[in-house]
Amino acid sequence: MMIDSERLLKTFLEYVTIDSETLSELEMALRLTSDLAAIGCEVWRDNAGAAIGSNGYNIYAKLAGVGEPFLFSAHMDTVKPGNGVKPIVRDGVITSSGDTVLGSDDKSGLAGIIEALRTVTEKKIPHRAAEIIFTIAEEGGLNGVKNADLSSLISKEGVVLDCVADVGSIIISAPGQARLTAVITGRSSHAGAEPEKGVSAIQAACDGISAMKLLRIDAETTANIGTFKSEFATNIVPEKALVIGEARSRNDGKLNAQIGHMKKCFEDACLKYGATLELQVDTQYLSYSFEQDDQLVRKISDACRKIGQKPVFEASGGGSDANIMNRKGIKTVVVSTGMDKVHTTSERITVKNLEDTARLCIALMTDLPAQ
Ligand SMILES: [Zn+2]
Repeated sequence: MMIDSERLLKTFLEYVTIDSETLSELEMALRLTSDLAAIGCEVWRDNAGAAIGSNGYNIYAKLAGVGEPFLFSAHMDTVKPGNGVKPIVRDGVITSSGDTVLGSDDKSGLAGIIEALRTVTEKKIPHRAAEIIFTIAEEGGLNGVKNADLSSLISKEGVVLDCVADVGSIIISAPGQARLTAVITGRSSHAGAEPEKGVSAIQAACDGISAMKLLRIDAETTANIGTFKSEFATNIVPEKALVIGEARSRNDGKLNAQIGHMKKCFEDACLKYGATLELQVDTQYLSYSFEQDDQLVRKISDACRKIGQKPVFEASGGGSDANIMNRKGIKTVVVSTGMDKVHTTSERITVKNLEDTARLCIALMTDLPAQ
């Protein structure tokens, strides 16, 4: 398909040099707003940034076309260290200079969508109406999309371009995630003089954790304790311990069961030692799952074949903006853009994958509804 590869690469390299670590997306938002407007899109924004402490905001856009619009989405923010990216292109592979991430997560998605919009408008290719949402603060909790006004969009289905693996991978299921914060309170006492008057919060917390099923629970469920904090002098029975963990599952019932199990382990241990428990469970996002013969999944598979890529169906181990969009009423599936080794300073992407990402978007845009 007739994309302008040189322009696409130039755009991508410019985007990655715009600093946009999570909550500092303003400059990226301004650039995308001007690029979308120059293409002829109607562009609007929200106030999500103010709600979550970002200087940026989510950007929405619409390109007039045939039929019901199809939604294209990618996120503007990058993880740290993401400022001062100096991209290097060598033998068809783009990397950072080694001291920052590259930011192909998710600027490969942004650049691919922009190139597709430019191509269909410039070459006057008949295309479906398209809507776009570029989000802030995807990394670290999907907070941009959680605060987005999706009711300003009319699309009922779309894609989120935000996953590792060569273009062609279609993420048909992704887990839900819940976070568990436990504060265990015992009773302090001199550990040498009268330890029997104390209740060790550390002992109770450890007893609870050691009774837990953790890490790989089953094929679709995982759990982990990531934080354990308690520090007292050795001659004091410790009265407080903070434990933070998470569970994920592609099955919401199993997610609830695992969180319930972890909670029960803490309750039993606190009861046994006479400690008290304050426990908070935050559901970060819920799972999504589609069959391979789902109508939207088939549409995306056809688009992959059209650009010469074999569709590969994958289950993800993590959530993305699509988890939230699916629960807010826009059916969305995540597709890969070829980004690789993301969230590390070895992050990389091939020029070929950038091109395929733009081509995939064009194939989806030009998949016109039947008359
Ligand atoms: Zn991402």
